[in-house]
This record gives sequence, C-alpha cells and structure tokens, in this order.
Amino acid sequence: MTHLLLGLPPLSAAHFASIEDRVARLLDTRQDVVIMQGEALLPLEGAIRATAGPGTTALNVITGPYGQTFGDWLRVCGATVIDLTVPFHTAVTAEQVRAAFAEHPEIDFVSLVHAEAATGNTNPVAEIGEVVREHGALFYLDAVASIGAEPVLPDAWGVDLCVIGAQKAMGGPAGVSAVSVSERAWARMAANPRAPRRSYLSLLDWKERWIDGGRRTLLHAPAQLEMLALQACVERIEAVGPDVVMARHASAAAATRAGALALGGGLTPYVHDAAEAAPVATTLRAPAGTVAADLVARALAADPAVPLAAGGGALAKEMIRVNHYGPEATPGVVRSSLTALGAALGEHGLDVDTEGALRAVEAAWG
Ligand SMILES: *Cc1c(COP(=O)(O)O)cnc(C)c1O
Repeated sequence: MTHLLLGLPPLSAAHFASIEDRVARLLDTRQDVVIMQGEALLPLEGAIRATAGPGTTALNVITGPYGQTFGDWLRVCGATVIDLTVPFHTAVTAEQVRAAFAEHPEIDFVSLVHAEAATGNTNPVAEIGEVVREHGALFYLDAVASIGAEPVLPDAWGVDLCVIGAQKAMGGPAGVSAVSVSERAWARMAANPRAPRRSYLSLLDWKERWIDGGRRTLLHAPAQLEMLALQACVERIEAVGPDVVMARHASAAAATRAGALALGGGLTPYVHDAAEAAPVATTLRAPAGTVAADLVARALAADPAVPLAAGGGALAKEMIRVNHYGPEATPGVVRSSLTALGAALGEHGLDVDTEGALRAVEAAWG
C-alpha cells in the first residue's frame, strides 16, 4: 500500500534552503530568513528570548491578545516593559508610539502585531517603523495574520524581526513558520548572554550552525510534510500573484463589512474605521441583548461550513469573527456567512434583510 503522506525521503539541506529563499522573496527581504519547525509561537517566543534581557526597555503595543503574551515573555526575560494598550475596536497610531518614545526615551525594543485575526484590526506598520527607526530601537513584528492578506515588507519598514506563519491567509499548514532577522537583531542576540543556545528555541543556533556554514548541514531532520506544504503554498501565491491573493482578502473584508451593515438587526462592524479593519478577518459586534457565542452556535447549526467563531475569552459575549482567509476568502463564503448570521439573528426575533446583505456583498466585492 502506498500513501501520499508516508514514506517520504528526508528533505535535503539544499531543498530546505530553497524554501527559505522563496519565503525571503515573498517578504521582499534581503535579511536572513530562518524557517522554524513549529507553529509561529516558536519564532515569536524565540526572537523575544534571544533579543530581550534585563537591560532592555520594551514598548509593547497591545491591540489584541497576542500583545499580552509578548509582554509576558518580555517580563520573564527581565525586560522593563511599557505596555501601550489601545481599545480593540481601533488600531494604534504612529503618534501614540512617538508619544511613548518622548515619555520613555530609553525604549530600545518595540513589539507590535501587524494584523490581529483575533480582534480584526490592522496597524500602520510603515508609519510606526519610521518612528522606531528614528529612535534606533529594535523592531519586532508579528505578521502571522497579515502575510498573504496585505503587504508585509520588513526591509522597507525597518522591521528587525518579522515572524510569519502559513496557516492564515497563505492557506498553508500551522506546523511551520519563519522569521526574517536583520544584522542588528543578530548582533543583539550575540551580545545577549541569556539568548537561548543549544535549544529548540534558539535562533542563534540556526545562525551559527546553518547560515554561517553556508546552509549545508541542517540542525536536525526537517519536518518534511510541513516544509513541502509551505513550499506549495508559497508557489501557489507566486503562481496566482501576491497582489491577486491580497485583493481577494481585501474584497472579502469589504464585502463582509458592507453585508453586515446591510443585514441590520443591530449587527455592526467591531472595528469602527474601515481603514483600520484587517483584510484577514472581519469582526462584528453582536446586537444589544444578544450573546455573540450563542449567535455563532445558531449560525453554525444553520450552516456548519461557515468560518464563524466567537471572540476569545471575555470577547465571546460581544464579538463575532468571520475568518475569511486563505481558501475562505471568496464571495461564496462571505455570502453563506452572512446568510447563516441572518438566520441566527432572525431566530432571535431580530429584523434582518438577508437579500439586502447579499446585494451589498456583490456591490462591495469590487
Ligand atoms: C493566528 C495568529 C498567530 C498564531 O497563533 P495561534 O494561536 O496558534 O493561531 C500569531 N499571531 C497572530 C497575530 C495570529 O493571528
């Protein structure tokens, strides 16, 4: 018996390096790209532990749940952490970051999430990058939810550590991820006695034993299924065209937003300003007197295929997430998501206009 997923030969070092190069092209970066054999939290944590320590003063921007996690890691590393928290219905502005530097000129590290699939906002990284560069701080960016859905340009934006994962807009596997690392970031790690070494979390191991050796010998057997899947999803984006893939996500977000407003019943976009809404996923505020998690359960009972979820934790009461990313960024998925939500709101006795919502989706798709 043969099986597609079994009995694969090990992935060669040259093949591994070629997939890194493909990811570097996707990011339009000349920095080193390290692919890590795990979900994106691996490079997200590894990059913080490598670059932050007791001498670090970190500005940690919180626009959703991941920022909270990064702040916790930074504190564990001994860094002094200044949290800049903005309400989840909005994005952070470059002005707010500038004001934080004015108040704390000692800031030498900035952590930011680009797009938040969990809260539906997206932050102006290019503008924030200018401020970070003016002050010479190291810039750490979580681009897991933006890659594939909107431009991610670490070199142009001055990002020193840019982490991506394949599982959102790239439509790939969750078990592999990548980080681009600037020369400045490598220098910080080399100077940090607490940076993980001889550890699965270690980026320096990849620098010293893989990159500096000319990428000839891998540190351990690569996860070949995930690597092949990562290669396949980058190839697919190249073949279709990154602009086309990103435009599909932007259309899905615009259509979901317009459709939700036309649906009525008190449903409103969670992120107030459309310009601050992420292309990867649209969040909606459940109408007054309803519970988001209950509406999602009813909608999924009406159509189990739609990519709906309630917000995490305390947000489960008020936030509905439409995860229109990867293969779900299609007009059909947006239509069926709104139809299912319309059914849920109708069952709740609310007055909805599903036909009107579907017309708004067509008009907004563009
Ligand atoms: C999805 C996502 C990740 C990956 O984390 P999971 O909890 O494993 O999904 C990291 N950062 C952001 C901003 C994400 O949206």
